[in-house]
Amino acid sequence: MINQNPTKGNSTTWAIVITVAVVLAGLFMIPRLNRSGGGGSTAGGAPCLVAGLPMAQHIHSHLRILVDGKEETIPANVGINSCEHALHTHDATGEIHVEAQDLHAYTLGEFFATWGKPLAREGYEMTMTVGGAPSTELGALQLKDKQEIMVQYKHTGNANNANGK
Ligand SMILES: [Zn+2]
Repeated sequence: MINQNPTKGNSTTWAIVITVAVVLAGLFMIPRLNRSGGGGSTAGGAPCLVAGLPMAQHIHSHLRILVDGKEETIPANVGINSCEHALHTHDATGEIHVEAQDLHAYTLGEFFATWGKPLAREGYEMTMTVGGAPSTELGALQLKDKQEIMVQYKHTGNANNANGK
């Protein structure tokens, strides 16, 4: 009963060696993919979420954009393209989801980079409030839970004859 076919024993050993090698290779690959952003086309943006890894943070900030006083819609599915990025939207309400597998302090600038939009716009002056208070942090603003961010752009080109206010 204890006697085993030596050939069978060898192939079992090889199967274990190969399995261990594959698992080790996988462990080295996952952090590399995560760090490089996993092939998403968002330079400077948030990394791709990796299937099977747990979330390290999940918070929501709210963003409004006004251009010359008019509300601009922040579309649904920002940051959801070739993969789901750590910064994304699910609807057009301006809610930014920070769902990340690391504890990096994500910023407003990184959200815009993930979106693929420049934060500053040519021909416009940009101001920002956070929770109603003026802020000069702009792209460096760290996204926090239940934060109300309002970014306003005012056209500077014909400011004098725009609307005689
Ligand atoms: Zn969320």
